[in-house]
Amino acid sequence: MQSITVLGATGSIGESTLDVLAQHPDKYSVFALTGHRQLNKLAIQCLQHNAQYAVVNDEVSAQQLRALLADRQGNTEVLHGSEALCEVASSGQVDMVMAAIVGAAGLLPTLAAVNAGKKVLLANKESLVMAGGIFMQAVKASNATLLPIDSEHNAIFQCLPEGNLAGSGVKKLILSASGGPFRTWTMEQMKSATPEQACAHPNWDMGNKISVDSASMMNKGLELIEARWLFDTEPERIDILVHPQSVIHSLVQYTDGSVLAQLGNPDMRTPIAHGLAWPQRITSNVADLDLSEIAQLSFESPDRERFPSLQLAYDAAAAGGDAPAVLNAANEIAVEAFLNCRIGFTQIAQVVENTLSEFIFSEPESLEAVQDADTRARAVSGDLIKRLES
Ligand code: NAD
Ligand code: MG
Repeated sequence: MQSITVLGATGSIGESTLDVLAQHPDKYSVFALTGHRQLNKLAIQCLQHNAQYAVVNDEVSAQQLRALLADRQGNTEVLHGSEALCEVASSGQVDMVMAAIVGAAGLLPTLAAVNAGKKVLLANKESLVMAGGIFMQAVKASNATLLPIDSEHNAIFQCLPEGNLAGSGVKKLILSASGGPFRTWTMEQMKSATPEQACAHPNWDMGNKISVDSASMMNKGLELIEARWLFDTEPERIDILVHPQSVIHSLVQYTDGSVLAQLGNPDMRTPIAHGLAWPQRITSNVADLDLSEIAQLSFESPDRERFPSLQLAYDAAAAGGDAPAVLNAANEIAVEAFLNCRIGFTQIAQVVENTLSEFIFSEPESLEAVQDADTRARAVSGDLIKRLES
């Protein structure tokens, strides 16, 4: 029996994780579930999965969650705050942690799980984008097992002989991208895109932030940086291939001309089940892939002009140091402003670009330095957004 903490249980990845866990009650038990705003959902999840602990952000939410649980005779203990998040991610009673908080808020609890040497299922790509060097050093030092859940990285992991590149004859990693809901839109059309349109992803059902990132293709840029750290390789060895059907989740090209790919229906329960059971396999309830039904798979090159966020991420990856942390923070602030209808869709990339141009990048020597770059970038982007509004 493996005991698991799900960070970000109320989100899209969190829900899919609980769905897979519920299919295997003989294998997994829930230690802790965490959530931010959807307290009712969190209460129901705690009852259904018999969680020992629940963690929310503040005292008021904790009181509300306790009341919801008491109404239903739940005996989950409720904690709150960032220290509690780190505690349930690193507790001696936990074997595995699903890191599925969205954004920079996921960094500290995910690192706490890593530092405690847990098996860490990484969905929170932003933590690697922000602090990849420090994060991967921590993985090495603690001997944690890091398993990629992002579908592309999980696909690459499955196509690599030992899950890494060393001495493997790998020439290139090829990240596939759906192209998002605006794949065929002109820049002019994208100017007036609404949050609703940006969140309506053609293939994947995801949280709002990553949906907007997919629409701008910043998601693929973040994934380029994520892959660079996960597989310890230069960004130049990572290609991006637009594949609108999202059936091939990514590919690995070898020096002898072989190309290995992982295929499946676009359903995150597949990479989640893979991570949970690795190195074994378990069922996930994902429908069998029917290629004759899909009939055609198509491919195209990404357009970095229509999707400038992708170019910004390439540039930040090349600049290195704290550039990706600045990119990530600016993007989080700009996406939030777009979702709140304060700026237009194409202004997201503008805010990120103008924020990056205010910085002279340096190698962050500590986590505090990363957090400092993150805080400063948020302030600069916030000011830029205010100016765009007025
Ligand atoms: P979501 O918005 O659906 O859920 C986010 C979760 O994080 C929720 O449980 C929320 O309560 C919690 N959260 C948000 N802000 C928080 C804060 N400040 N403090 C503590 N908790 C907070 O997001 P999602 O789509 O499930 O994505 C989660 C992560 O997984 C993201 O990093 C995303 O990039 C990555 N990811 C998601 C998918 C997908 O299909 N949804 C695929 C690949 C990677
Ligand atoms: Mg992905």
